[in-house]
Amino acid sequence: MFGSPQDLLLTLRQVVGDDGVKSDIDVLRRYGRDETEDLCFLPDAVVRPRSTGDVAKVLELASRHRVPVTPRGGGTGLSGGALPVHGGWILSLERLDRIRRVDDRNLLVEVEAGVVTGTLQRHLEEQKLFYPPDPASHERCMIGGNIAEDSAGPRSCKYGSTRRWVLGLEAVLADGRILRIGGDNRKDVAGYDLAQLLIGSEGSLAVVTAATLRLVPLPPARLTLALPFADLEAAASSVTEIFRRGHNPAACEILERRALEAVGTIEPLPRGLDALEALLLLELDGRDAESLIDDARRIADDLAGDMAGEPIVAIDASDQRRLWRIRDRVGEAVKGLSAYKEADTVVPRSALAELVHAARRAASEQGLEAVCYGHAGDGNLHVNLLKGSLSEEAWTRRRDAAESQLFAAVIALGGSISGEHGIGWTQRRFLPLLRSDALIDVMRRLKEAFDPVGILNPGKIFIEPNPRRPR
Ligand SMILES: Cc1cc2nc3c(=O)[nH]c(=O)nc-3n(C[C@H](O)[C@H](O)[C@H](O)COP(=O)(O)OP(=O)(O)OC[C@H]3O[C@@H](n4cnc5c(N)ncnc54)[C@H](O)[C@@H]3O)c2cc1C
Repeated sequence: MFGSPQDLLLTLRQVVGDDGVKSDIDVLRRYGRDETEDLCFLPDAVVRPRSTGDVAKVLELASRHRVPVTPRGGGTGLSGGALPVHGGWILSLERLDRIRRVDDRNLLVEVEAGVVTGTLQRHLEEQKLFYPPDPASHERCMIGGNIAEDSAGPRSCKYGSTRRWVLGLEAVLADGRILRIGGDNRKDVAGYDLAQLLIGSEGSLAVVTAATLRLVPLPPARLTLALPFADLEAAASSVTEIFRRGHNPAACEILERRALEAVGTIEPLPRGLDALEALLLLELDGRDAESLIDDARRIADDLAGDMAGEPIVAIDASDQRRLWRIRDRVGEAVKGLSAYKEADTVVPRSALAELVHAARRAASEQGLEAVCYGHAGDGNLHVNLLKGSLSEEAWTRRRDAAESQLFAAVIALGGSISGEHGIGWTQRRFLPLLRSDALIDVMRRLKEAFDPVGILNPGKIFIEPNPRRPR
């Protein structure tokens, strides 16, 4: 029935409509990238279904014809998860963008995979409801992508990553069968918890088409506190102290001077932040402004001996937004400095200062600059190694050596090689440093059980013998 790739595209068009299949080169180039370095792999086609039923038909077709399928949300991933490294089809969920229902009695929302996270959050806030997971990419990333990566963000410090908020999933297996897992119940231990297995599986086990997410009432008051430090290690050490003394910030972020300077190149920094060596940015939330001001004062008093100057307290919503824009834009700002490689390191919170030290040592021993920022309250530090003016050969050699040294230190500190960005394409070679052969074997067998013909996001997470070269 299907003689050629063209015949297959024709059948795809019958399933998802003419406007649901794109194969012109500009579109292929656009969907051949995510936010990972400057990597690009061209797919053969971009498929944009509108419903779970259509996703099922597309996957059934792909399985029958052994076409690699790479699921894609907002394309903001930082480990190359959405790159079609084996060609085939990009399966974009962007048109599954309905908020199906908000249930304010049970405090939950059912939402399709292609809803942009920030859009969902604003919609809920209008109803005084709160969905906390907030990757700094919230204006572009999508709920399906957040689930596939178990994404976190500043507020995971108090509220946890996406995983904690998922009650149920609708997902499609590689062969086209639709799974409905969990739902409105706050508890459910009937059989294996496959929803939790799919969360963080990076589009390699099934395609998520919708999710039921837990909500909480929107906290009535928020306050932002910016704490200055004389160096990054001092700021990192203070993080443990904040929690040890009983404070419970919603968010606790860290940025070093070079990261602040990078943001300063794309937008003006609030006065007082432009010459700092290191900054802790905290969000407090609760019932009323007065009690938050009191909490902020107590945090500042507790850290008075460690800080290098006066804290900034922002109560007004627009002042708070200005401070959080620094954090939201730092990734893009650092990317603008130079070609780079990011290591998404995480350690137990009390080891954060040692991690900072190890990151700086690994970079400087290779003559590289490292720019660090991240979710300090989670012990999660993004270490960005910059290429600068190095030749390709010197950059590759020094970067690989620095990364290996850094990850060895991370593991020695009891940490992990990815806190929230996933293994994807770029971190595969490091997985065996952290996970035993037995664990990787179980993971591979799970992959085979879910996707026996291996069409779903092939080439990711595990090292394979003959990876395709980027085009
Ligand atoms: C500026 C910036 C800031 C960021 N800040 C954070 C942060 O604070 N915290 C954080 O955790 N991450 C952060 N990220 C990384 C990224 O935004 C997250 O990983 C995000 O969840 C990816 O969502 P996406 O919709 O863009 O997914 P994509 O990049 O499109 O895909 C990511 C992975 O998910 C898979 N996938 C996508 N949709 C589905 C689906 N429906 N079903 C199955 N698999 C799917 C893809 O195959 C791929 O493996 C940031 C990225 C940028 C560029």
